[in-house]
Amino acid sequence: MDHGGPAPPEPVTYLCGDCGADNTLKPGDVIQCRECGYRILYKKRTRRIVQFEAR
Ligand SMILES: [Zn+2]
Repeated sequence: MDHGGPAPPEPVTYLCGDCGADNTLKPGDVIQCRECGYRILYKKRTRRIVQFEAR
């Protein structure tokens, strides 16, 4: 079911567990903060935020 070309990999944004910097990593990238080199990153929710105003 891969007709139409490969889908672009979705970059995922991670937060560094040490300095809190955003790190956008693609699949296959090393999990490591680019600011401080810390190796524990937390996955950030990348879903768009949808807010409904309930009244
Ligand atoms: Zn860091």
